[in-house]
Amino acid sequence: MLIYNSATRKREEFVPFVEGKVNMYTCGPTVYHYAHIGNLRSYIMEDVLEKYLRYVGYDVKRVMNITDVGHLSSDADTGEDKMLKGAKREKKSVMQIAEFYTEAFFADCKKLNIKTPDVVAPATSCIDEFIMVIKSLLEKGFAYEAGGNIYFDTSKLDQYYIFNDFKEDDLEVGVREGVEEDGNKRNKADFVLWFTKSKFDDQELKWDSPWGIGYPGWHIECSCISMKHLGEYLDIHCGGIDNAFPHHTNEIAQSEAYVGHKWCNYWFHVHHLNTNSGKMSKSSGEFLTVSLLEEKGYNPLVYRLFCLQSHYRKSLVFSYENLDNAAIAYNKIIARALGLLKEEQGEVVEADFNAGREKFKAALDNDMNTSLGVTAIYDVFKMNTTAATKLALIEDFDRVLGLDIVVAAKKELEAEKVAAEQKANDPFIVEIEDMIRQRAEAKKAKNYALADEIRQTLASKGITLIDTPQGTQYKID
Ligand SMILES: [Zn+2]
Repeated sequence: MLIYNSATRKREEFVPFVEGKVNMYTCGPTVYHYAHIGNLRSYIMEDVLEKYLRYVGYDVKRVMNITDVGHLSSDADTGEDKMLKGAKREKKSVMQIAEFYTEAFFADCKKLNIKTPDVVAPATSCIDEFIMVIKSLLEKGFAYEAGGNIYFDTSKLDQYYIFNDFKEDDLEVGVREGVEEDGNKRNKADFVLWFTKSKFDDQELKWDSPWGIGYPGWHIECSCISMKHLGEYLDIHCGGIDNAFPHHTNEIAQSEAYVGHKWCNYWFHVHHLNTNSGKMSKSSGEFLTVSLLEEKGYNPLVYRLFCLQSHYRKSLVFSYENLDNAAIAYNKIIARALGLLKEEQGEVVEADFNAGREKFKAALDNDMNTSLGVTAIYDVFKMNTTAATKLALIEDFDRVLGLDIVVAAKKELEAEKVAAEQKANDPFIVEIEDMIRQRAEAKKAKNYALADEIRQTLASKGITLIDTPQGTQYKID
């Protein structure tokens, strides 16, 4: 399996540290507001990656944090704590906000068929681990105390910038926000591991530490939570491309300084979801959430398909027109699967099944080409094999794609059956159909007067007959 590694800027053969096992870490949400669908694009693509690793037989352990403290409005340790901002906005406590938006996040994930990671850890549950690692970084000389805060000293590293194929502008974001320049920092790129003095006064959540009462920086959370549950060797770290710098760069700095060796082998970054007016955000333009799409009548899985139709390393432009096209494609796929359910099933032909599966695997093995993975579904419909084989293949692919194709088709088949039964049991419909039959017999016997009388009787009840080459149909006014 080839996967693009942002740290090396190459597509590489995926080889985990331990054969057959994969340790996977995902940066979770900062739970101060609803996730917008751009945030969720990353989680959808990471979900496909996880499911594909399982599909090809790896034993995957995936861990995700929930940031409920320490994430400031600028990723570079400036501005206000996002959680505090959310709490003020809604006149609630930080923990109430955290609980509410954590639940909302997982409700959205469920609608999008995103599996919950094996371990989900809120940052506030790991304070002891943060303190332990920060202590060790101080002892090893990678951190220093200044103005009451503890900072990571980036000048102690041979190499700090890892993902340096990004634009110089992006790289500078963290050190450029000079408005609120932190005079305690020895080097511009240094970052906070533990806050005490600054942002202290109105911080709701704070803990005792060897350096005074305070709270952790955002970056240290992910390093510690990952190492706590996955150990010192991480196979894949996932996240949105926004997080490559400074967040992931800082994670690498502090984790490797702590463990003393290479920490993570593969970095999987999902690119932006844009609108026609630029990058999607919570603060500008329409706040696009899963609930909003539902209110507008879209099945959340249509959004999932929309994401799968593009490569995760390309920016994707969201518009309702594009989403409508995905909805048309989704409905077509379900309709084709429904057609297969109605056909004579036959047996699953193993050779055909394996051939179909190889095509799908070839697409996903090639740096998660989900767009070709979706195309593999259309190829199945065109295959010259039994309906049972085709349905088995689609169900097999859907273990990774998560579009509920056969489930939705079965539901539709069931609904059709129920509608047909209701029709058969409706005396009004039974009477109409009986009279149409009598009229056909009268016409056959050339008794046009009777046929006409039946037509007029029905017309008086508001039923219009339409004679077609396939027989007589009717319309109820
Ligand atoms: Zn993170």
